[in-house]
Amino acid sequence: MAPLAIRRATKSFGGFEVLHGIDIDIEDGEFVVLVGPSGCGKSTLLRLIAGLEDITTGEILIDDKEVSRLHPKDRDIAMVFQSYALYPHMSVAENMGFSLRMRDVKPPERDRKVQAAAEILGLTPLLDRYPRQLSGGQRQRVAMGRAIVRDPKVFLFDEPLSNLDAKLRVQMRAEIRVLHKKLKTTIVYVTHDQIEAMTMADKIVVLRDGHVEQIGSPLELYDTPANAFVGGFIGSPAMNMLNGRIGEGGRSFVTDNGAELPLAAPPRIEPGRATIMGLRPEDIEIDEAGFPAQVQLIEPTGADIHVNLEVSGDVLTAVFHERLGLSEGQSVRLSIPVDKVHFFDPDSGDRIV
Ligand code: ATP
Repeated sequence: MAPLAIRRATKSFGGFEVLHGIDIDIEDGEFVVLVGPSGCGKSTLLRLIAGLEDITTGEILIDDKEVSRLHPKDRDIAMVFQSYALYPHMSVAENMGFSLRMRDVKPPERDRKVQAAAEILGLTPLLDRYPRQLSGGQRQRVAMGRAIVRDPKVFLFDEPLSNLDAKLRVQMRAEIRVLHKKLKTTIVYVTHDQIEAMTMADKIVVLRDGHVEQIGSPLELYDTPANAFVGGFIGSPAMNMLNGRIGEGGRSFVTDNGAELPLAAPPRIEPGRATIMGLRPEDIEIDEAGFPAQVQLIEPTGADIHVNLEVSGDVLTAVFHERLGLSEGQSVRLSIPVDKVHFFDPDSGDRIV
């Protein structure tokens, strides 16, 4: 098992740099999720770790050993792809044992490893089947089994659940977590789905345009996003962002559209300073003594209700856990607990407090 370090890694395609000086330290046995919008470079970074792409500058270390120039098969890494990449003409057992056969592992040991992996993954009754005779979730498990038999130092997962339906995705998400707890092998997992990142990761790396925006535990990122991008990316429904400035004496936030939102305690920001106020949907409260808003849209999800509220031309999304009996068009009053508010610099996007 292996700590993995990525040092000042850059990657260019035809002179065009898509990863710019990436630094990430991954602890032994950690489950790390690389997340970010389409095109941010997460698959490229994973492929650099795997050795499927050559690094342009920088280095990748496994157990303090530089592996950047090693062939993929010499890096002691196993990758699970989105497409599963199973061989259709081979049984489950043959698919799982294939990489061992390529490495001249003898049949008794090969069988033993395949059976042990099948046991862990609940695939034992399916070992003689062919991929076409399996469900999507079972195929995904075989793809994982193929990685497990190799007992690698690091597992790399590239959006492994994106071909599954929503329900199976949730189930497989839990299975992969349980598997990680059993095997305790370091995992680097790529997804564009922030809920997958939040629920699976020990540590999340948020990427944007080839840069690392923030690294932290799911709740660190949720509670103290380093900038407005991370604030907006992590969390669903997304954090509300209001442009405005701190009012007189720090007692309010005045939106660019002229609404004055009272703040119970002054934030540590000088009055008059332009800021973006970030507000999580679940932190908005109905409060008779609060500022006025109008209910624009109500979306019940069953467990919660999502409500769009208009505040002088801005629309805030709120999540309420109680069925408040609201109706569209209704006037309400809201308050914002000041300790839950995030303030970002409008130019850099960086967190102020
Ligand atoms: P997605 O979630 O859409 O898969 P991603 O975050 O994984 O996106 P990458 O696939 O890593 O993003 O791509 C990062 C950038 O590198 C993109 O601008 C992409 O067009 C570019 N890129 C990736 N592979 C190549 C390649 N082989 N040649 C040229 N450009 C590439």
